[in-house]
Amino acid sequence: MDPATALPCDPADLKAGATPTLLDLAPAEWGRHPLLAEEPPFRARQVREWVFGAGVTDPLRMTNLPEGLRRRLADDGAVTPLAIEREHLSADGARKFLFRTRDEHGVETVLIPAGDRRTLCVSSQVGCAMGCLFCASGLAGFTRNLTAGEMVAQVVMANGAASPAGRVNRVVMMGMGEPLLNYANLLSAMRLFTAEEGCGLGARRITVSTVGIPARIRDLADAGLGVHLALSLHAPTAALREKIIPPARRVPLDELMEAIRYYFEKSGREVLIEYILLAGVNDSEDEAQALARLVKRYRATVNLIPANPVVGLPYRPPAGDAIARFQREVRRRGIRCTVRRRRGDDVSAACGQLAGG
Ligand code: SF4
Repeated sequence: MDPATALPCDPADLKAGATPTLLDLAPAEWGRHPLLAEEPPFRARQVREWVFGAGVTDPLRMTNLPEGLRRRLADDGAVTPLAIEREHLSADGARKFLFRTRDEHGVETVLIPAGDRRTLCVSSQVGCAMGCLFCASGLAGFTRNLTAGEMVAQVVMANGAASPAGRVNRVVMMGMGEPLLNYANLLSAMRLFTAEEGCGLGARRITVSTVGIPARIRDLADAGLGVHLALSLHAPTAALREKIIPPARRVPLDELMEAIRYYFEKSGREVLIEYILLAGVNDSEDEAQALARLVKRYRATVNLIPANPVVGLPYRPPAGDAIARFQREVRRRGIRCTVRRRRGDDVSAACGQLAGG
């Protein structure tokens, strides 16, 4: 599908009666927006260059447009479906944005700079239906899917806010929500992340993180986008996994792992296995050994994530050298295993802490 002509969002997901903003439309359709339809065709291109090239979504700053048009676009809120409500800067440089949707929901997004990497953790839903034991996003349940335009707007607006620190050059779909339960919009958004006339990111710089919907993992492999996949496994056995991710009881572990194998075979991309370490829940030596035995059958790397505290939840990361011990046990069996560095936890921007404001 040509990203320039594909409608990036499902109109059914737009607020009833709302005029789509430009970011809700395919770039090739921008000239048909009611406020641009009477303008010469190059106006749509100029607006596109401001939005995708410079991360400018405030029409009043689009200085090569006639003043009247700038005002009409601004008064109509015609460019982006999100507004930045707040920004929090962590002591370690991570930056959390609280966006407000047009129907008044909060959506959080985190920019994580590290050397020349500027990774944006993007949300795919308002809330989440999965209810993982350790996660703030799942506490209030699921509200609605984000449109593709709302996902793309997170990248565009972070680009605008991030300069001069630099543009986003990696996207991880690891924010609020389970992206594979918003599959059609996710696919449209990813096509615009990678499109030349969109965000212009390479597919290798995009990672989709899922708790595991086997049919959608296979669909994603078949879609051939070439993006990376991360599986939030969090437990080496079905019984323990069901305790940590309650809906996992509907997904046999074998079926899930076969979907992972399929993704690797089809895409050539090694899958990242994410494992949150919850003290006293899934961090024993036995569990490390069982994890290594399970993962050994697949081409995958394990990434350990020490749990981050969430207000109202009792879970903590393993103390002392328990994390290093767990990592050693996995590595001893020939599995590549890394530990994720905690970022942004002082502003509740770390993994599992996003709650939507
Ligand atoms: S960890 Fe991900 S899938 Fe689980 S509740 Fe949180 S946002 Fe949802």
